[in-house]
Amino acid sequence: MKNQICTACGTQLPMSSKPIKLCPICVDDRQYIPETGQTWTDLDELSKNHLMVTKKLNDHLYELKMMPSFGIGQRALLVITPAGNILWDCISLLNEPIIEFINSKGGLKAIAFSHPHYYTTMNEWAATFNCPIYIHKNDEQWIFNKGDQVRLWEGAEQELWDGISIINVGGHFPGSSILHIPFLSPKGVVLCGDTFYISPSKKHMAAMYSYPNRIPLPLEEIKRIKALMHQLDFDTMHGFYADQNVYLVAKEVLETSMSRYV
Ligand SMILES: [Zn+2]
Ligand SMILES: [Zn+2]
Repeated sequence: MKNQICTACGTQLPMSSKPIKLCPICVDDRQYIPETGQTWTDLDELSKNHLMVTKKLNDHLYELKMMPSFGIGQRALLVITPAGNILWDCISLLNEPIIEFINSKGGLKAIAFSHPHYYTTMNEWAATFNCPIYIHKNDEQWIFNKGDQVRLWEGAEQELWDGISIINVGGHFPGSSILHIPFLSPKGVVLCGDTFYISPSKKHMAAMYSYPNRIPLPLEEIKRIKALMHQLDFDTMHGFYADQNVYLVAKEVLETSMSRYV
């Protein structure tokens, strides 16, 4: 029996003697079951009708995406560092060309997650590249397929190496996190997943409980997140959709956006 993958969010769920009828990630009010109903696929089927495309953002950062778009349609970001590479968030498809591409860049030393919407086929990725998966303990209940490589981290920050840290911001999910890379731009880079949603204008960012269902966060949460991000040095931010890149003015854009909320 194959593990089933939800076509609406891309999460892989373990196949058991009692197949899961509805995806628990999509039943949650931060996602949704499509009007057309719950449908499933698997890795073999995905490999037949989808490709993986890569795009270089700079010498140290590559974007990985499925073509045509699948599930939530997010990209994963591959961070290249001298001490080892990090995959920030994941995508459902894992095929030979993408394995070869990542290995040509030095493989993976870690997979780290912003939050449960992008867990997808993480165990396959971790097994292929023989690396740990960093997930904040606050989101443990959303891991439905917990493999041996999952490392739950706790508290405000998990340093990886060379000053690169996963920082727990909360908001969207209690474990929602960002990856902070201090050396990829003059003041530092933040990979935000959808802890923050970068608008198409690149002049606004949102932090919400649910993006597809437009459910806002309580004001106190926005104030807390605003204060937390104010302490962090960064100027560039990359979000979960392929066009969500804000260069050099990201902190100003975030602060203006959060002030406007308040
Ligand atoms: Zn789902
Ligand atoms: Zn999300």
